[in-house]
Amino acid sequence: MAARALFPPHSGLLVFQPLKRRQCAECRRGPLPLLVLEDSAPRCLDCADLGHLVFLPRGDTALTRRSREESALSAVVVRFNRRKSRYERQGVLVEEAALARAEQRCLADSEARRRRRARDARRRADQDALFAQAFAAEILRLLPGCPPDRARAIAGHASERGSGRVGRSAAGRALTEEAVMAAVVASVRHLDTPYDRLLMSGVPRHEARRRIAAAVETVLRGWTRTGLGSTG
Ligand SMILES: [Zn+2]
Repeated sequence: MAARALFPPHSGLLVFQPLKRRQCAECRRGPLPLLVLEDSAPRCLDCADLGHLVFLPRGDTALTRRSREESALSAVVVRFNRRKSRYERQGVLVEEAALARAEQRCLADSEARRRRRARDARRRADQDALFAQAFAAEILRLLPGCPPDRARAIAGHASERGSGRVGRSAAGRALTEEAVMAAVVASVRHLDTPYDRLLMSGVPRHEARRRIAAAVETVLRGWTRTGLGSTG
């Protein structure tokens, strides 16, 4: 039989899924779902001393590799593809305990990955919180009269990860006065002036900004002083 010639020699122990009905040359059992060729004669897995192995279908590369590493005895299962005139891997036969150990290792890996992702997310959240704190502190340094809650809200909004807002930009990262003030002005515009209402009623953006500019100025002037009325 030309099977071995058609298959790479370094494949190790080969087990075939026969296309035809075959019987074991030793115990006469058949038809055989899987067989080993010994001296060109088919043998069942039991007669070939491979009966204790379990079949792991191809598909999970890591699990397959680890199962074979863990298994003292393993075999590659192949089937002949007539159209392509070559043998194709269907999976491997490995010891059941080896498969269990390999599954454990794969599970441990995915668990480790999950824990690492959680750690990374926590670290990013901590960084975001620190950044928002620094941002709020800078708002209060520039505008001591800004209510602290409002400063924290503006900072939190501006530094939301993935928002692409000013707080996430390089300038915001550096906490430049320009970047911090831009975030404050955007907040004042939306919350303390009729800006959004003007936009909704169809007023062009630039015209709307022009109309509310004085109102924004008034709020900011109020916030440049510490406490309400304390400095007159
Ligand atoms: Zn047999």
